[in-house]
Amino acid sequence: ILFNKYQELKGNIRVMCRVRPVLGEGGAEGSEARFAFPDEKSSTQIDVTGLEERSSLGAVTRKTHPFEFDRVFDPRIQNEEVFGEISQLVQSALDGYNVCIFCYGQTGSGKTFTMSSADGMIPRATHMIYETITKLEEKSWTYTMEGSFVEVYNEELRDLLTPAKEVDGKKKIEIRHDEARKQTTVTNVKTVRLDTADKVEVMLRQAQNNRSVAATKANERSSRSHSVFILKLVGENAATGERCEGTLNLVDLAGSERLNHSGAEGERMKETQNINKSLACLGDVIEALGRGSAHVPYRNSKLTHLLQYSLGGNSKTLMFVMVSPLEAHLKETLTSLRFATKVR
Ligand code: ADP
Ligand code: MG
Repeated sequence: ILFNKYQELKGNIRVMCRVRPVLGEGGAEGSEARFAFPDEKSSTQIDVTGLEERSSLGAVTRKTHPFEFDRVFDPRIQNEEVFGEISQLVQSALDGYNVCIFCYGQTGSGKTFTMSSADGMIPRATHMIYETITKLEEKSWTYTMEGSFVEVYNEELRDLLTPAKEVDGKKKIEIRHDEARKQTTVTNVKTVRLDTADKVEVMLRQAQNNRSVAATKANERSSRSHSVFILKLVGENAATGERCEGTLNLVDLAGSERLNHSGAEGERMKETQNINKSLACLGDVIEALGRGSAHVPYRNSKLTHLLQYSLGGNSKTLMFVMVSPLEAHLKETLTSLRFATKVR
């Protein structure tokens, strides 16, 4: 209901902020940025207050920055309630829409926890889809659900469902757009027919394993690449002959912290530039769509190129901006919230 209301007001782009809880880090007084929330749990405002250096003499003052989003989840809010806000988007994918849900934020802010943990958005979304599909069978609808899982690293695509040692280097992974049908396929990646719920779990585990095998340190790799879970849903109605094709893309973005960093060298420099470029490009694309701009720069990055037909048109987009509650992360938090404000 909330979603439809907004849709009339301001198109198909929604931005929500989630603040993760303190995880026993320090816990000392002053280590937490002071986030002020209105009393109601369902808020749209977040005030970020923290100590900031204000002058060249190093004088420190406390400053409050107010932000507003379509929804702000305070640290008490569980994945179940977060899912409540996106379930309409999952329904939209079943109704034949293309949907993109992104998690944006610095490393450690809760992107993966929200998206692909055991009770995160991916398992919840697929669970809801199975339930809905079963109910729709009574109305003569038959659905197929196919999943693929890719990673964008250094502006190149990698299949997360094929173990590194089985990858055939000669088979290029490429994005193919079908302009007439407004559909995208990715060549030479595995697609899994998700006909039972347990296959999702297996798939998530596989993707997780393949991601860490390629990395020196598992968490490092995942913070430097975007992972995209692509769910294609095709429904056919035997009684009416109706057919609908929708896609649900669930994207765990690379850590945004590098937007601030400079001074990296060599491979790291290239990587840093690619992450900065692709996150900035995503921001530009969403902003252009929000403005109703005639030119949307999809081609400027691999990620937006891949998601071209799921961003814009009559597709629906939700960006979660994840932030840490710690004062130590204040600067990154402000950078993330400003990025999110820009795309809203
Ligand atoms: P990211 O993917 O953004 O780097 P993670 O999702 O891995 O961050 O989160 C960092 C740590 O914080 C993990 O240990 C995760 O389990 C924990 N965490 C994140 N968000 C929450 C939350 N809302 N509730 C409880 N723990 C959380
Ligand atoms: Mg992560």
